[in-house]
Amino acid sequence: MSRVLDFLNGLDNYELAFFAKYKRNTYMKETQKIISDYLLEKGYSKSKIDRLIADNPKSKLSDHKERCPRCYSDKIRKNKVEWTNAAESNGIEARAATWDAIGGRVNYKDEVICNVCGYWIKDPNHQKPLPNSKKIMNGIWDILIGVLRNIKNVW
Ligand SMILES: [Zn+2]
Repeated sequence: MSRVLDFLNGLDNYELAFFAKYKRNTYMKETQKIISDYLLEKGYSKSKIDRLIADNPKSKLSDHKERCPRCYSDKIRKNKVEWTNAAESNGIEARAATWDAIGGRVNYKDEVICNVCGYWIKDPNHQKPLPNSKKIMNGIWDILIGVLRNIKNVW
């Protein structure tokens, strides 16, 4: 519980606005309530949040820090992940990675996620949660493939 509040207290006004707009809904209901109460206490209305996001002065910074392209915060998180998606992509880099995997070496890539707004800056394994429409499409495909399999079984 207090971990969330600690995190929120470490954000500046603009980061808090981005967090409220993009990341609040990704939390469990109880945590969302804590966040909403915090925002209310700090006087953040929806219009204030939108205004802060539109004004974000960090978008004009050029300090060469690695920043999130959406909220321009430098509070980004890097995870080293095993790169499992090599076979699916086509670049030279991907092919090289596949060879390495065959040779018994595991590839690691950085998965980079913004801690403030949840933006996936680098997503080597396509772990990013799918938008709902895509999930539905995948569901439809599963059903179609299932139907085709059944037809085959009948014949
Ligand atoms: Zn961000």
